[in-house]
Amino acid sequence: MSMMELENRYTAGVYPKRDVVLVRGRGSRVWDESGREYIDCAGGHGVVLLGHCHPSVTAAISEQAQRMVTCPGIFYNDQRARLAERLTQLTGMQQAFLCNSGTEAVEGALKFARLSAGASGAQGRTGFVATMRGFHGRTMGALSATWEKKYREPFEPLVPGFTHVPYGDIAAMEGAVNDSTAAVIIEIVQGEGGVRPGTTEYLQGLRALCDNRGVLLIVDEVQTGFGRTGRMFAFQHHQIQPDILCLAKGMAGGVPMGAVMLGSKVMGLYSGAHGSTFGGNPLACAASLATIDVLVQEDLPAQAWRKGQHLLDRLRAMGARSVREVRGLGLMIGVEVRTRAQPYLEAMMARGVLALPAGSTVIRLLPPLTIGAEDLDAVVAVMEEVLRKGDGSASR
Ligand SMILES: *Cc1c(COP(=O)(O)O)cnc(C)c1O
Repeated sequence: MSMMELENRYTAGVYPKRDVVLVRGRGSRVWDESGREYIDCAGGHGVVLLGHCHPSVTAAISEQAQRMVTCPGIFYNDQRARLAERLTQLTGMQQAFLCNSGTEAVEGALKFARLSAGASGAQGRTGFVATMRGFHGRTMGALSATWEKKYREPFEPLVPGFTHVPYGDIAAMEGAVNDSTAAVIIEIVQGEGGVRPGTTEYLQGLRALCDNRGVLLIVDEVQTGFGRTGRMFAFQHHQIQPDILCLAKGMAGGVPMGAVMLGSKVMGLYSGAHGSTFGGNPLACAASLATIDVLVQEDLPAQAWRKGQHLLDRLRAMGARSVREVRGLGLMIGVEVRTRAQPYLEAMMARGVLALPAGSTVIRLLPPLTIGAEDLDAVVAVMEEVLRKGDGSASR
């Protein structure tokens, strides 16, 4: 049986599949079984910040795999200690809880927020206000914060206490936050919801609102963190500081990892409050330390900014009629088309470029921050051809 047949038969079938079997990656390129090469702007859903198989990360993983792979949180570990310190330095937060994915980071954030709202004497503060088009993960708590109906409805009843208000609307948030609210949870750029950057005015307004009402601000940077948007963290574009920060996706160079970063209002949780068997395992910590070193040494956030501006400029300059809007921040880019995005994604793949949807009408590009000028130009050329075809203005 082919690999496609095997996966179709023996995996749960929850993913809409593309007809390609990827077997190898290097830098911004990946290869399929037959040796065909693609430029990877899907980047494992934004995980691939340094490109595939970055030599520093590969070396760190293989060294750590020979020293110690697992070490539960009840014991101390050198890699974990170093990473936790590094993460607090980078984020301006106080402490880290390490886990294994984005949804776990959000799950932890929600639990810590309730715990902290209770611990600070504000009993009864158990509610959360999230935003329309927000995406925070697929486990029951994180799913309750997620907006999209098709992700939620089959699994109801979800966790009670969540409300959703329009993103970008500070008055709506003011109306929704009340005495039973533990926290507000937001993305700085809504990712899955269509690549929608928040404005500084909105985000600073949220920070002030949360301060005034004694509510925690949870910032979900699972997709935007670690340089993706042109700053190490996207909240740094807006001079705000979260109370709780969720991280995951690219933080360990492709090794599964997440983190909940805690600010001073939340730190000092009691022993036994939360836990994870794999969370903070030395293998992931070593991979993350190596990833962060490369991000800092090569100033990849600045590169993401420059390359993102270039890509946004080129995409906007095309003026294709099939395009409704081009949005983005750094190398997190969304091209909203007037019809369904899927046929465009397929046409791009046929021309050797892998990209993602973000909702039904947005083509999302999340290339490695290390992508070279040549590959960026190739992506622009393919997008131009495909989008013009969508205009009906190019020959078929
Ligand atoms: C991807 C994503 C998640 C969920 O992460 P998983 O690792 O898939 O569980 C949560 N929040 C945001 C903003 C994301 O982009």
